[in-house]
Amino acid sequence: MKNQIEKDPDVEGKFSFQPPLDRASERVTKKPFGIFITPQNSPVSPERFYGYHTGADFEVFPEELYLDVEVKAICSGELKMKKTATGYGGLAAEACEINGDPITVIYGHLKLSSIAAKVGENLKSGDTLGILGKGFSSETNGERKHLHLGIHKGTAINILGYVQSKENISDWIDPCLYACGK
Ligand SMILES: [Zn+2]
Repeated sequence: MKNQIEKDPDVEGKFSFQPPLDRASERVTKKPFGIFITPQNSPVSPERFYGYHTGADFEVFPEELYLDVEVKAICSGELKMKKTATGYGGLAAEACEINGDPITVIYGHLKLSSIAAKVGENLKSGDTLGILGKGFSSETNGERKHLHLGIHKGTAINILGYVQSKENISDWIDPCLYACGK
């Protein structure tokens, strides 16, 4: 068993994290990390998901609904995957580290064609990754315009947005511990 990964306030270089969007902390208004979602209690309607949310959702502000909203890499690491996935539309995965432990970061609901980096390329923390997909389109797999950001422990690319038991949520890390800014 690994010890819980802890935040190091002095992290620099490849361990430094950046928010994926400006005013990031103000955007996590509907689905924070770990919230238990059902179609009945969801802050989003209609809701098709059920379970514990493995990431944090960053909403857009009203004035951004029809603007290009750039998503930045939250950490430095290799782009491991970009593809269209059910539940997400455009999806990217990046390999990073927290204090030497590997993590895999999932960015969901991006416009796939806007992701300029190639798989295998290294991104730097704060680099533009792409733009958010258009809401309620194939770019977001029919979801509202927002960013799903997930941090999974280890090197496996796990794109589950929800897990069905509370124990399983411990395989993920709250992105706001690192990437919500102030
Ligand atoms: Zn989400």
